[in-house]
Amino acid sequence: DKEGDYHKPALLRHRRCIQEAAEQSLRGARVLVTGASTGIGEQLAYHYARLGAQLIITARRESILQKVVDKCLELGAQQAWYISADMSQSADPERVVKYAVEKMEGLDYLVLNHIGSSPFQMWNQDAEHVRTLMQVNFLSYVQMTSAALPTLEKSGGTIIVVSSMLGKLATPFVAPYTATKFAVNGFFETLQHEFSMRKSNVSISIHILGLIDTDSAMEKIKGYINATAYPASEAAMHIIRAGTTRQNFSFYPWYIYFVCLFRDWFIYFRDICIQNSFTY
Ligand code: NDP
Repeated sequence: DKEGDYHKPALLRHRRCIQEAAEQSLRGARVLVTGASTGIGEQLAYHYARLGAQLIITARRESILQKVVDKCLELGAQQAWYISADMSQSADPERVVKYAVEKMEGLDYLVLNHIGSSPFQMWNQDAEHVRTLMQVNFLSYVQMTSAALPTLEKSGGTIIVVSSMLGKLATPFVAPYTATKFAVNGFFETLQHEFSMRKSNVSISIHILGLIDTDSAMEKIKGYINATAYPASEAAMHIIRAGTTRQNFSFYPWYIYFVCLFRDWFIYFRDICIQNSFTY
């Protein structure tokens, strides 16, 4: 026990010990993080680096990826590389996984985090945008999972899926984004069942996030809703802890669990509350 732990309940002390052991297991672990040039993905990369992992990060903007890699090496990553890729291109998801597996000689964590940009507005009947966003936010996740599975089965690895409360509950102004996140949750929750039934050694860890203070999210909601946004760095650490301890689901901040739990209890009042919380 550490100093100060003495006064904590045994269960909390036990939980912290497990978390610490899990974090130590990340030393040298081979991790691929997508959407790591900014936001939560960037913070995930920095935390993995501090914990001594080997990292491949990806996104489209090469110059920013180079800076993130440099910082990861400063923070203590055993190794760090980047590969720029555009997930709207159907060949890129497999190309990224192949690069990561070759560079690190295997893979322990596939962290699916990237999203394409989508306007925060009432749906404007742009079906083509929904199709493209489905490729970036959903189909590329499926392609990367398919490409990485043989390697993850060898290492007993984990697929970390960064998802959203908006993949569980519909709110206005985000129809294309919400559609992709519902698809992500549906697909990976089904895989969780199937992996469990066939006793696969690969775990799938799905993370349901509320509003996080990334630049892109803050820019989008400005003027529409006044809600508390939670820190991206903390969200990233929460994801890493839950992923390393192979939890099927995690919710951040904590009350998102109750939002999902009570989602369908009083739908009339729920929908009035949701609609009244937006400026329109
Ligand atoms: P950001 O917009 O900050 O980052 C998105 C990342 O994806 C960037 O690194 C971007 O880099 C990359 N990206 C964008 N388009 C493409 C593309 N076509 N191909 C490859 N990479 C691309 O997102 P957040 O950090 O806010 O969100 C991260 C995750 O967290 C997402 O899965 C999101 O759904 C989830 N989440 C976020 C919430 C929030 O409030 N922020 C709330 C709930 C969930 P580049 O432009 O260089 O390609």
